Amino acid sequence: MKEKIIKILHLYSHDMNIYGDRGNILVLQKRLERYGYKPEIIEYNPGDKFPIEADIIVGGGGQDSGQNKIQKDLLKIGPKLQKLADSGTPMLVICGLYQLFGKFFKTAEGEKIEGIDILDIETYGKPERLIGNIITNSEDFGYIIGYENHSGQTFLGKGVIPLGQVRLGAGNNMVEGTEGARYSNVIGTYLHGSLLPKNPKIADFLIEQAVIKKYGKFDKKQIDDSLTELARKSAIKRPR
Ligand code: GLN
Repeated sequence: MKEKIIKILHLYSHDMNIYGDRGNILVLQKRLERYGYKPEIIEYNPGDKFPIEADIIVGGGGQDSGQNKIQKDLLKIGPKLQKLADSGTPMLVICGLYQLFGKFFKTAEGEKIEGIDILDIETYGKPERLIGNIITNSEDFGYIIGYENHSGQTFLGKGVIPLGQVRLGAGNNMVEGTEGARYSNVIGTYLHGSLLPKNPKIADFLIEQAVIKKYGKFDKKQIDDSLTELARKSAIKRPR
């Protein structure tokens, strides 16, 4: 039988990859293998050729300086990413790239870093950093557990829905109690940790969307997530 390949595009793996964000790629890779697919990881950094095919797109967080470094290139590939997002390609962007998938990030120093506007969000840097363990609740994924560390506070427009409601921590901003944003199959979130090892339902969502888009259907096998469940139970009890 011909191997079914799923290509994971890792955006800006050099500059946007902090607090263990690479773990998201590893989880997708391992779960795809367990489901019987062949994952291929394509690392993309400024100046690289944008691949012809990408089935799942993942990007991590970064310092303001990292965001500045990749921004020009991101604006260049923005229309390609927009097209992929509109056609249902699953994407996961964390923190720094979450912000830049939005309209802009105005840093605490007043510098405006333009985003690519796939997500209808605006982010404003504040003097106080929002740091600590975070738990949110979402209809589709249940409790989402992670770690946040950002100065930017994000406000959602009408074109997106929140990923979850905050139970512990700050999330998008200090006033609304929402976390993350979704448009089409694009998920943006502040959660590092990394996110997917502790939240396999989100990993499976990305995988399922990618496989259905490419191969028409996804036969979901049962994966033993008992250790993950134990880790989730313990993580959920941690203080902020
Ligand atoms: N530099 C951005 C902020 O501080 C993003 C941080 C991050 O990716 N953790 O808001």
